[in-house]
Amino acid sequence: MTPRKAPLLGGIDLGGTKIQTAVVDAKGKVAGEARRPTPTSGGPGDVAEEMAAAMREAVEAAGVETADLGGVGVGSPGDADEKTGVVSAAKNLPGWEGSFPLAESLRKELGTDVRVGNDVQVATEAEFQLGAGREFSTLIGVFWGTGVGGGLIIDGKPWVGRGAAGEIGHMVVKRGGAKCPCGRKGCMEAYAGRSAMEAEARRQHEEGHKTDLFKLMHKHDKPRLTSGIWERALDHGDHLAEKLIDRAIEALGTGVASAVNLLDPEAVVLGGGLGVRFGERLMEPLTKEMGKHLFVDERPPAVRVASLGDLGGAIGASLLFAR
Ligand SMILES: [Zn+2]
Repeated sequence: MTPRKAPLLGGIDLGGTKIQTAVVDAKGKVAGEARRPTPTSGGPGDVAEEMAAAMREAVEAAGVETADLGGVGVGSPGDADEKTGVVSAAKNLPGWEGSFPLAESLRKELGTDVRVGNDVQVATEAEFQLGAGREFSTLIGVFWGTGVGGGLIIDGKPWVGRGAAGEIGHMVVKRGGAKCPCGRKGCMEAYAGRSAMEAEARRQHEEGHKTDLFKLMHKHDKPRLTSGIWERALDHGDHLAEKLIDRAIEALGTGVASAVNLLDPEAVVLGGGLGVRFGERLMEPLTKEMGKHLFVDERPPAVRVASLGDLGGAIGASLLFAR
């Protein structure tokens, strides 16, 4: 008989548009993965069923069974309670304004233990343990995508506060400023979040400002202004795209520097769809904007682009069983 190995772990990254699953070994190596679109109608129960189906596909790809897994971790949007496994107010998911016992529901479906955590926090933990943040013990994860999410590692440990820490996108960068998707005013996300940027681009386009952003969106058959569309527009020298990206960088620099002033971390890891696509290209203007607001400016934190890519969220979720 071969010696018993550490069990494989499952990870599920529950996003507004897709459900990404992975089967991961003790070293974070992916043994199988699957992806399904997130249901756009129905309710939490339908989403949970689709998550279970995507997890089963990944398990099959890895050549094992769900009952063999040491557990399945879920990185969830909304308010994910690690202690109870209940997810509340996941407003970008269908019919999920209230609370739903996600861990319990998946446990029944999959026949293995399930834990839930905040999606951005677990992605930050993945970068800390296996990715761009490995060499640091205190860092801030900044996930620049549809919104702007944040995660914290302090002294080598995740910091979730009372469950809602790390909401860096809702740090105020301008009092009484632009309306944020959260309903408040002047948040960093109101300037830097992909969906806020798209709303602003649309408004200015309708006012008569010239831009190819929406032409490119239709040409490439995209339902929204994806990070790839923004990149193409920048490559074409599209003025409105340049203006809105500059505005986003200014807000990111201001918000991230404020967070750095509070925590004095060794590093900032920049992830998310826009963060990964533009991290290297816009690193210089970003660190310059940050520098303007750093109180101790002679030793700024390292700024690194997240390195685990699309699977970082699912890998991080599996680590909920390795903490
Ligand atoms: Zn906000």
